[in-house]
Amino acid sequence: MERITLITGGSRGIGSAAAKLCAKAGHAVAVNYVSNVDKANTVAAAIRDAGGIAMTVQADTGDEAQVERMFDAVSSELGLITGLVNNAGVHGPRGRLDELTNYEIQAVLNTNVLGCFLCARAAVKRMSTKHGGGGGAIVNVSSGSAHLGAPNDGILYAASKGAVNSLTIGLSQEVAREGIRVNTVAPGLTETDMPSKEALEHMGPQLPSGRVGQPEEIGEAIVWLLSDAASYVNGANLRVSGGRI
Ligand code: NAP
Repeated sequence: MERITLITGGSRGIGSAAAKLCAKAGHAVAVNYVSNVDKANTVAAAIRDAGGIAMTVQADTGDEAQVERMFDAVSSELGLITGLVNNAGVHGPRGRLDELTNYEIQAVLNTNVLGCFLCARAAVKRMSTKHGGGGGAIVNVSSGSAHLGAPNDGILYAASKGAVNSLTIGLSQEVAREGIRVNTVAPGLTETDMPSKEALEHMGPQLPSGRVGQPEEIGEAIVWLLSDAASYVNGANLRVSGGRI
C-alpha cells in the first residue's frame, strides 16, 4: 500500500526525525511547519536527497481554515493521506498557573488541543471507509507530563496533553471499524528546542536511563505505530521515556 503521511511540526525536533524515518520506511511525507520555512525545506531536501518523496506545507494547526488548506494541498501534491502524526506542539510559559494570562492559556490550547482535534478530524474525513477513504493510522504525540501534572512548571502544558490522551482513547474506538488506528506516543524529556538547555543537562542524569532521549528514538516508535507491524495496536499510549513513569 502506498503510504502518504502528514507530520505536523515536521520542521524541527521530534517531527523532523519522524519525517525522515517515515521517508526511510517508504512513506511519501508532508512536512508541516508554522513559521520555520528554512528548517522545513531542509528536512524535505534531506528526504529527497536520500531518494524519498517529500513536500512542505505551511499551516498553523490551531486554525481551521489553514488546516483544511493543508490537507487539500497534501491530497493535490501527494495523493490521499494514509497517516497523520499529530506532533506540532508548544510548551508555553513556565511557572505557576496563577501567573498565566488568558492569552497565554489560549495560545497553548490552540496548538496542543484544538490543533490536534482539527487535524484528526480532517484526517478521519479523508481516511475513514465511512467517508470513502482507504483507512490509515494516526499517531498523537502527547507527553508524560499529562500524568505528572507538572506543578510549578507547566500545568497548562500537562493538561493539554491530557486532552490529547483522551482524544486517542475515544477516537481509536470511534473509528476502529472504519480502517483507522489511533495511538499515542508519550515522550519523556527529549533533546529538542522545546526543553531548556538547563533542564536537559540537569534532568538527564536523574532519569532512570541516566540520559534524555533523542528525537530519533521517539520517531522510531511513531513509525512503528504507523506501520502494519502494529496492525492490532489501537488506542495505546506508548511511553518512550527511558524508564520514567
Ligand atoms: P520543537 O523542537 O519545539 O518543535 C516544535 C514543532 O512544532 C516545530 O516544527 C514547529 O514549527 C511546530 N509548531 C509549533 N506550533 C505550531 C503550530 N501552531 N502549527 C504548526 N506547527 C507548529 O518541539 P519537540 O520537542 O520536537 O516537540 C514535538 C512534540 O513532542 C510536541 O507535541 C511536544 O509537546 C512533544 N513532547 C516533547 C518533549 C521534549 O522533551 N522535547 C517531551 C514530551 C513531548 P516551526 O519550526 O515552524 O516553529
